[in-house]
Amino acid sequence: MTPKMFAYHCYMKEPGDLSGFVDLAVNNLIPMGYDTFIAEIGHNVITKCHPEISGGSVPIEQVKEAAEAIAKAGGQLVPLFNCFGHQGWKCERNGLLQAYPEYDETPEYTEESHPDNFYTPSWCGNKPGIYDIVLPVIDELIEATNCKYFHVGMDEIFEMAHCPACKDIPRHELMAKNVKILHDHLTKRGVRMMMWGDRLIDSKECFGHTWEADIYGSYPAVDMIPKDIIITDWHYETTEFPSVHMFLEKGFDVMPSCFMTNHSVKAMSNMVYGSGAPGEHPLIENEHMLGMCVTNWIGGASNSEIDFMLTKTRPGVSQMGQTIRDVAAWHTAYVDPSKRRRW
Ligand SMILES: [Zn+2]
Repeated sequence: MTPKMFAYHCYMKEPGDLSGFVDLAVNNLIPMGYDTFIAEIGHNVITKCHPEISGGSVPIEQVKEAAEAIAKAGGQLVPLFNCFGHQGWKCERNGLLQAYPEYDETPEYTEESHPDNFYTPSWCGNKPGIYDIVLPVIDELIEATNCKYFHVGMDEIFEMAHCPACKDIPRHELMAKNVKILHDHLTKRGVRMMMWGDRLIDSKECFGHTWEADIYGSYPAVDMIPKDIIITDWHYETTEFPSVHMFLEKGFDVMPSCFMTNHSVKAMSNMVYGSGAPGEHPLIENEHMLGMCVTNWIGGASNSEIDFMLTKTRPGVSQMGQTIRDVAAWHTAYVDPSKRRRW
């Protein structure tokens, strides 16, 4: 049986350093039962191979130290490097596209041309040269962390099939092509790929809008990509999660991923772990259901944020801390320790 996992994901806009994240993992979350720490650090790390693409200030040596500290405490740091989409925020490009603007899918979308109507830039899905830059960075992150899993992001990719190099290629082909390049590379390294699920969900079947599912045509890629990819299927507002069943039925390992909306977290936890009532068969019994991932999009990278999150009552922040505790209570109550992931 596949060991169950319990993940904490942290968005790190500009962490400065990772000591707060490590402190949170080692001294708070591992004792609560979390075993996997998905750190959205990719574009903030200064790597040896491509320091020019970093938009942050975290040296690779510090990533290594963080991973070692978490491993020593019994957990695993999983690096997240946003691939394909999320190459910046609104019209601002990240370090990768600033250093290599030739891979910008929509260079004409600027603050002047689209001041209010542009979500985030992507790299071009049909210029393989991008991977000459990105794959060595991924390799360096793998070596530094000694990770067995790697998260490639790939959520909310709206800008594709637009530039002259790929405008005639169907979106699902571009999506599948980029997923497979990353999967093949990680597999050769003995590393399992994790990715967000939203671009693989047909909005006509689930959710009906463009954030949690796809309305533009990338979703058929779900049937074109390897099934050993772990899907972190995020949903933060709803109380029904049909896409979780869709991914399970197709044979993917799935980690339903919540944020901090109480009614949604409760509904997802109940679906995954059940209530312990006799005769109940919660999804955690499915061999492809790994366990939940608690995502944190409000901070949690610095010591002061963590102190607030776990101990103080500031609205929002305290709710995040409550979610972290609540889901841990579900996971540890309903997943036998012998079935949990040991790193
Ligand atoms: Zn393109």
